[in-house]
Amino acid sequence: MNSNGAVMNEWKLREQMCEIGRRVYNKGFAAANDGNISYRLDEDRVLCTPTRVSKGFMKPDDLCIVDLDGKQVSGKRKRSSEILLHLTVMKARSDVRSVVHCHPPHATAFAVAREPIPKCVLPEIEVFLGEVAISPYETPGGQGFANTVLPFVKDTDTILLANHGTLTYGSDLEDAYFKTEIIDAYCRILILARQIGRVNYYSDEKAAELLRLKPGLGIADPRLELGLENCDLCGNSLFREGYEECPPEPRVFIHPKIADSLPYKSPIEGAITPSPAPLQSYGSSSGNSSVPSGNKPSAQPSSNGHASSGGPDSEALVRAITDQVMQALQRR
Ligand SMILES: [Zn+2]
Repeated sequence: MNSNGAVMNEWKLREQMCEIGRRVYNKGFAAANDGNISYRLDEDRVLCTPTRVSKGFMKPDDLCIVDLDGKQVSGKRKRSSEILLHLTVMKARSDVRSVVHCHPPHATAFAVAREPIPKCVLPEIEVFLGEVAISPYETPGGQGFANTVLPFVKDTDTILLANHGTLTYGSDLEDAYFKTEIIDAYCRILILARQIGRVNYYSDEKAAELLRLKPGLGIADPRLELGLENCDLCGNSLFREGYEECPPEPRVFIHPKIADSLPYKSPIEGAITPSPAPLQSYGSSSGNSSVPSGNKPSAQPSSNGHASSGGPDSEALVRAITDQVMQALQRR
C-alpha cells in the first residue's frame, strides 16, 4: 500500500474509534471521561483514546499514538493513563489488534461482587465469549495494575477487573467492543433471572456440543485443546492455576454440581432452606425498634430469616409491661 493509502486507512480507523467511543458512552458503559480504546496500527504504533475526554464526543484529531512501551509519539492530547493495560494484552497476544476497557454497570457489578461469571446458562455466551476471568484488584494506572491480567490473557478475550470494570479484546475494534456488549447483556440477564428466582443450567454434554461449533465459526477455545472427554465444563474453571492466590468463589450463581461442596448457600436457596450464618445478619436489624434497648429480648431467627416479633420471649415481655401499666393505673 502506498503512503497515501496508509494515511487514509489510519483516518478511517480514527473515525471508527470515535464511533466505538460513541457506542460505549451511549450504552452507559463509561460515565463522564471513563473508559479507553486502542488499536494496533503496526508493530510499534498503537492508536489510543486521550485522557480526560468523554468517549462519546471524540473527534479523529483527539486520538493519540503511542509505542508499545506507552511513550506518546503523536497527538495533541495526552494519552490514556490506562494504556499500559492495553499494551500488556497486545504484547502477550500477537493476534490482538484492539482493546476496549470501560465500566459497564451490570458486568462491573459482578466485578465488584467478585462473583464468577456462571457457565452453561446461555448458549451464545459459550460460543462467543467462552470462559470469563476475574483479575485481582490493583490501583489503576501503573504496570502493576496491567500485570494483574497476565495469568488469564492467553485463555480468554474477556476479563472482569475486580472492583473496577471490564477488559475485552479482539481482532479489530468492533470485535473487541462487541465482547463488552455481550458480557454486559449477559450479566444483566443473570441479574434479572435471579430476581425472578431460579437460574437453570444446561448439561456438560450440551456445553460440549456448543464448544464443538466454535472451530467452524473460526473461534478458538483453549478448552477444545484440552479435550472434551469426561470434562467438567459447567462446574470447573479453566483459570484454576491463574487464581492460585485467592480464587473468586461463587456466592450467588452456584451450579448445583458444586453446591454441596460449599460451606454456604446462595441467598435465594438460603431463604428456602435457612442457613443460620448469613441470615442472622439480615435479621439483626429488623423489628423491635419500639422496645427500649435495655429490655430488648434476644432476637430469634425465624424460618424466613427475620428476627421474631412474636416468640415466647417477646410475649413474656409484653405481659410484664402490661402488668406494670395495669398496676400503675390501679395505684392512682
Ligand atoms: Zn477504568
